[in-house]
Amino acid sequence: MVASILLQGGTVLTHDKHDHVHAAKADLLIEGNLIKKIESGLSPFPGTQVVDCTDKIISPGFIDTHHHVWQTLLKGRHANHTLVEYFGPGEQHSIDMKSRNFAASVHSPKDIFWGELGGALECLDVGTTTVVDHASVNISADHSKAAIAATVSSGIRSIFGYCPIAPVENWKPFTLGQNLLAEWVLKTLEELGLKSPFGNGRVQLGLAFDGTYLPKEVLMNLFSKAKAAGVKIITTHYVRAAVPSQAQLKAIETLHSHGLLDSSILFSHGSNMDPDEAALLLNTNSHVSVTPSTELQMGHGEPVAFQSKLGIQSHCSLGIDCHSNNTASIPGEMRLLLQSARGTYNQPFLTQSKVPAKVYKTVEEAFNLGTINGARAIGMDDQIGSLAVGKLADLVVFDASSPSMVCGAQHDAVAAVVLHSSPGDIEMVVVDGVVRKQGTRLSAVDVAAGRGLWAGEERDILEWADVARILVERREVLQETLEKIDYDEAKAGVIRAFYVNERNIVDSL
Ligand SMILES: [Zn+2]
Repeated sequence: MVASILLQGGTVLTHDKHDHVHAAKADLLIEGNLIKKIESGLSPFPGTQVVDCTDKIISPGFIDTHHHVWQTLLKGRHANHTLVEYFGPGEQHSIDMKSRNFAASVHSPKDIFWGELGGALECLDVGTTTVVDHASVNISADHSKAAIAATVSSGIRSIFGYCPIAPVENWKPFTLGQNLLAEWVLKTLEELGLKSPFGNGRVQLGLAFDGTYLPKEVLMNLFSKAKAAGVKIITTHYVRAAVPSQAQLKAIETLHSHGLLDSSILFSHGSNMDPDEAALLLNTNSHVSVTPSTELQMGHGEPVAFQSKLGIQSHCSLGIDCHSNNTASIPGEMRLLLQSARGTYNQPFLTQSKVPAKVYKTVEEAFNLGTINGARAIGMDDQIGSLAVGKLADLVVFDASSPSMVCGAQHDAVAAVVLHSSPGDIEMVVVDGVVRKQGTRLSAVDVAAGRGLWAGEERDILEWADVARILVERREVLQETLEKIDYDEAKAGVIRAFYVNERNIVDSL
């Protein structure tokens, strides 16, 4: 018999065809992995799990369209970093700065497994049901397989962006791997393509690739290989001007000139794109993931989603980027984006001794970036991103009577989620019809669920407290390794590798 769950008496948030969000009391019936009914007065069948949702808000699960999910062991290291410092060079606390591709190089497959599992569980805990994973971990095939195994174990829905990278081959003298697309890298892509999707269809293979500066033939060959392997989404970082290097100039124009820009392309950031590139994005139905926390902190530039001069809001969604730097909460990013855009909008009025007549953008527009727009970015808006009969059962239940949400939730449920909620208000998370969090606690994890792909971990069922203990142990081992690295040598190597022009890094203008 198909498992069923009846969420009774909650305030259900549904989208109409104009993307307006309506809050109405209703029951919601899940059968298997689908939303079967949303209506009042539903009665449970024998065997149906009934959840009393009186004083609860039932929201679509959040969609995070850019995240390096493996980075859990690096949390807390980038709090005061610019983007250039995050990449490697920096002036202070140098030992803690090895990050991203470089820190992945000192992760074993087992470290990647636990880091990835920790990251995916944080996503679930904060209500993210689907993530686009820019999995910059492909030191070896086993590293990527361990990451997919952990994703499967976690229970989250994912586009796993298999990511060819240039790992550190030697720390002293500092050398990066030169062949981004070595034979084994492409063979692993094909092998994963044959095995995907993973986890009963929850985890699909994508491609994450940052070598858009490579020759046209190389990119065409890679993209066609990826599509032959079943890849539907190709994601790439694009931070124009913010990295003082030659590596990322005009990625949108470049891909378009190669004939490769279409709805399969998902840029992360898109910072400082010009109106011509914005027009190309709209014309080709490609998308951008905006990550307010990292973009505002690290100096990428003003987030593009609410920039009226670009007009690309319909093709923007939200991502976390680095949970090593900030929380994984998509409502948190909705809030930060909305209020920072309002601040930017208001300032010119005030500078001219005027006041704006109305507030800039709405909580509904911010909410949509983290729900239905995220689904559109990955071509899954017929399956996820809103609550509707026939869609996949990916949803979040908030406590509408918590100290932070009470009264706000009863007055305007969308405002309550965007401006008042915290992850602690999330009582229940369901992905693909399976309960992954209930009573504000994460469900136990089946560590063995991805063993068919990577068998490097022998444990089976673990509670979150056990996962947390293992993460702390592995962080300590990683730290010992990082402390042995010659920082000065690494910094010089990173500057060479990324063609950083140091004269452009200044303290003041
Ligand atoms: Zn990123």
